[in-house]
Amino acid sequence: MAHILNIPVQVHFQPWNTSWSVVTAQILGWKSEFREPEPLTLTNSSLSHLTSGQVRLLVSFNRPYSKLEGLSGGSEPMRTSKDFITDVQLPVLPKSLASRFGPPGPDAVMPKKVKNQTYQILLADSPCVQNKQAVDATRLSNEFFALKKDNLEELLQFIRKWGRWDAAHLFYPLKDDGQFRQPGSPNFEFVWPGLVWEYRDACRDAIRKKPSAWLGSPQATINTYQQSEPPYFLVKPCDCRQVIEVSITGAMLDKVEFGVCARSDCRRIFKKKSNHRRAYCSQYCAHLVSVRKGRRATARLTGKSKKAR
Ligand SMILES: [Zn+2]
Repeated sequence: MAHILNIPVQVHFQPWNTSWSVVTAQILGWKSEFREPEPLTLTNSSLSHLTSGQVRLLVSFNRPYSKLEGLSGGSEPMRTSKDFITDVQLPVLPKSLASRFGPPGPDAVMPKKVKNQTYQILLADSPCVQNKQAVDATRLSNEFFALKKDNLEELLQFIRKWGRWDAAHLFYPLKDDGQFRQPGSPNFEFVWPGLVWEYRDACRDAIRKKPSAWLGSPQATINTYQQSEPPYFLVKPCDCRQVIEVSITGAMLDKVEFGVCARSDCRRIFKKKSNHRRAYCSQYCAHLVSVRKGRRATARLTGKSKKAR
């Protein structure tokens, strides 16, 4: 058997200061539907490979989000000078949305039903500046799994507190003719809420499966940094996603078993103690569910006795 070293590694996460706000993103269609002149240096065949899976969006700052529903359609929002168009790769969009676009391809046309739909997304409209102070990363994971699903306000507060969701999710604003702006013009980090909820569901699924599925995946990869004082080895996640992933990896390596709270409106993740079958994250949830059961039973009984009279 191989020699196993037990090396303590500290998670070192410094949150980011940045200003996040809610903006609207309107689906304009596949990038390939906008047949703008292409740069001469690339041949069309190599371009179609690059561009067929990209979606063109109009990102608008002008409508207050409280007045919008999650999904509205049809009318074209008024553009302001801050608004911009951008092309994004499919994987930055929620699967539930991307699956409605039909297959991408050089000649693909997006169905009318999804064109011009608008979505509320979160956009960082200032550069991200990292705090000097590192924080307890377990707090971030706990808060993430406790967020109410589809609650944009809670997600906004979460992102504002920790600073970045996925540092690789960037909008590069384009000029109206689809050409890139000047080199060095600002790009924007964004969070597509639907993708975050899908990601969280996937984490919950992974946690309930055998550790090998997670620990063998790229999400569990850990890169360490070294310092000259204890604990000598650090892992430095740079955004919320990486913090969550490293927390799951650590817990799985600790052979901690997880449960997902059985209360349908909680679904928090909790650590299972060995040989303990627990369905709820807390006494509170267990109690609430039994109170609800009691109420339902009483309601059924009184309903029956009313009928009997
Ligand atoms: Zn619970």
